[in-house]
Amino acid sequence: MAEETIFSRIIRREIPADIIYQDDLVTAFRDISPQAPTHILIIPNILIPTVNDVTAEHELALGRLFTVAAKIAKEEGIAEDGYRLIMNCNRHSGQEVFHIHMHLVGGRLLGPLLAE
Ligand code: 5GP
Repeated sequence: MAEETIFSRIIRREIPADIIYQDDLVTAFRDISPQAPTHILIIPNILIPTVNDVTAEHELALGRLFTVAAKIAKEEGIAEDGYRLIMNCNRHSGQEVFHIHMHLVGGRLLGPLLAE
């Protein structure tokens, strides 16, 4: 059984977060340390620690991450200019919170995909 992270407490609204969307499968909230004018985390409500732990039974929730990302990008007014969706996995990516999350970042020119 994977250990819960702070994100489970955000989903249950036990600690404050700027939640902008929630349904039965996913929750979206503003990143506490935004790297761009729009920086939102979209996460499955079920705890999946890393992308390595994904199975076929998660496909509905993980698909929902994309439909919610597209909806939020439109609402944030960044859909036409564009944005980046990022999911980190484990140490080499710099993953810090072990409850998978999609970063939706945009609102400025983002530059090259990979920085040293
Ligand atoms: P990772 O490096 O794991 O892909 O990204 C974790 C993200 O979660 C970081 O961008 C970090 O700023 C954000 N984060 C960590 N703790 C909290 C928190 O308590 N609240 C919110 N809103 N974001 C958090």
